[in-house]
Amino acid sequence: MGDQELEFAQRWRDNAYGCFSSGHKFCREVCPVMQVTRNENHTPTAFHASIVAMEKGLVNVEDVADDFVHCTQCGACELRCPNTLMTGDFYRHRTRTVDVVKAMRALMVETGNEREAWKLWNERLALDHNEPVLGDTRVSQAHVADWAIGLDIPVGGETILFVDCEAAFFRTSYTRAFAQLLQKAGFAFGLMREQWCCGGPAAEMGYQDLALKHATHNVEDWRAVGAKRIIAPDPHDYIAFTEDYPKYFGEDYEFEIVLGVELVNDLVKDGRIALTHPVERTVTYHDPCRLNKRKGVHEAPRELIRAIPGLTFKDVDRVTQWSYCSGGGGGLPIEKPEITREISRRRVAKAAELEVDTLISACPWSERPLSEAGHEANLGVMDLFELVAVSAGIEP
Ligand code: SF4
Ligand code: SF4
Repeated sequence: MGDQELEFAQRWRDNAYGCFSSGHKFCREVCPVMQVTRNENHTPTAFHASIVAMEKGLVNVEDVADDFVHCTQCGACELRCPNTLMTGDFYRHRTRTVDVVKAMRALMVETGNEREAWKLWNERLALDHNEPVLGDTRVSQAHVADWAIGLDIPVGGETILFVDCEAAFFRTSYTRAFAQLLQKAGFAFGLMREQWCCGGPAAEMGYQDLALKHATHNVEDWRAVGAKRIIAPDPHDYIAFTEDYPKYFGEDYEFEIVLGVELVNDLVKDGRIALTHPVERTVTYHDPCRLNKRKGVHEAPRELIRAIPGLTFKDVDRVTQWSYCSGGGGGLPIEKPEITREISRRRVAKAAELEVDTLISACPWSERPLSEAGHEANLGVMDLFELVAVSAGIEP
């Protein structure tokens, strides 16, 4: 075993032993990947056992690399894990499975055990500086702000709207809806001079240097345009800005990060956005993992939904910590699209049981696989901001 592997195993051994010595697998049945594959190698327990085995020199990174692709980094296992809930009491170390998976993937890249589809995806990110969201059609800096044509949004200012790559190139109606809601409220904001990917997905797949390069570029751009505050409508960007960036930049990271759904909810509650147009739909809401399980944000989107006149809202049975995953995160759709498809198909089937006509999403990453599954099941999938915009009388 090489030095990098040994260093890795020693770094994560305490967390791994905490899991290995309890071994109750409480996490097992909340893991969306395990629910689909029924493969014990894809459980958080197995991930931690692999690190124990690695520390003992029984396996190396090559032996276990494929297992660690099987994770959406949804955070459900951490919420279910007693090592998270009872740290400081009987258990000593949090399992931190999401961080462990990220670190193992970084080790895979460092030791040349990359996965082919992730490698290609990140090579294209390195060339274009935005995610290859359009498949074979190249994204480019020249078109990163095309979604805003005609909206008269300035560049720069104290408050900057950061637009996720998926939302900038693919799901542009979501982005226009969000920007127009802020404009309707008279809320001043600007765009970046040159917006690169937040780097979060690259970090999730283990491409740490590439992620840092993109984060550094974005922070420099924020400073250059005089930003003090960054609005992140996309939960994945919100995770990158509130968890990855502070680790990269430490005390030099001076920005206030505002979550889009909380901002719009506040503007509605303050009466700055009036929801006057009834929307006659029967809906349920999909909790994006990075909002709910990772950040504990589940009330603001529900308050917004309840503020829309005409809607009938049927909440799901797992409304807080145990919400279902779409399968769209953690790079899973890039390497294992068939597993993402099945997770989304099951998520949509749960919504259909409630006899609704629309599943509301609040994350562009979730929305793509959910929309595909919804199409097959004849269930509409719609973004929350787009729905709010309709009720606010905004023409797209
Ligand atoms: S990750 Fe947590 S819940 Fe799962 S087996 Fe390990 S200690 Fe138990
Ligand atoms: S973060 Fe989610 S997908 Fe990954 S192991 Fe935990 S429950 Fe499974």
